[in-house]
Amino acid sequence: MIDKTQTHYRRSTMSRRTLLVASSGAAGLWALTPRLAGAQSLLSTTPSCTDTTEPTPRATQGPYFSPDSPERSNIREGRYDDQELMVGGYILDQSCRPIPGALIEIWQADPDGNYDTAGNHLRGHQITAADGRWIFSTVMPGPYRPRARHIHLKVQRRNGEVLTTQMFFPGDPTHAQDRQFDPRLVAA
Ligand code: FE
Repeated sequence: MIDKTQTHYRRSTMSRRTLLVASSGAAGLWALTPRLAGAQSLLSTTPSCTDTTEPTPRATQGPYFSPDSPERSNIREGRYDDQELMVGGYILDQSCRPIPGALIEIWQADPDGNYDTAGNHLRGHQITAADGRWIFSTVMPGPYRPRARHIHLKVQRRNGEVLTTQMFFPGDPTHAQDRQFDPRLVAA
């Protein structure tokens, strides 16, 4: 049993400002290898971790993070059943070893580009098991000007610093309008 209040960022008491401070430190410790699979088809996966894999770059948190998301894998809450998007990967250290007990949290816009700012729709977190794996059942986020389609993520190993980043999608024509777009964060 993992005591999240001790081992991860203190979800209920840590302020947004504290999180920003925590996430502005040294380079990230983990390589995050996002993989996507639609309901109808499996896409080829992002290249696996090697000795030369760079740590996942940071990206801005944006204005729509809120603490205390529920621990769950399905953040769709029974909606968009015909548009399910599976998003997953592994939390790995820089030697490509899985990191168990790491916290991963995601939040995103709905297909119309709107965030739930009153509740926890399309928000959730998980704790990685021994293999470092994580997976969420969600829906493709819509773009909202000036942002391309993206999913926000926070990752933290036990007692470690927080990595705040984002995931983008391949073949999205809205990349060009987004000054925050980072081609290194496009999932395969
Ligand atoms: Fe956003």
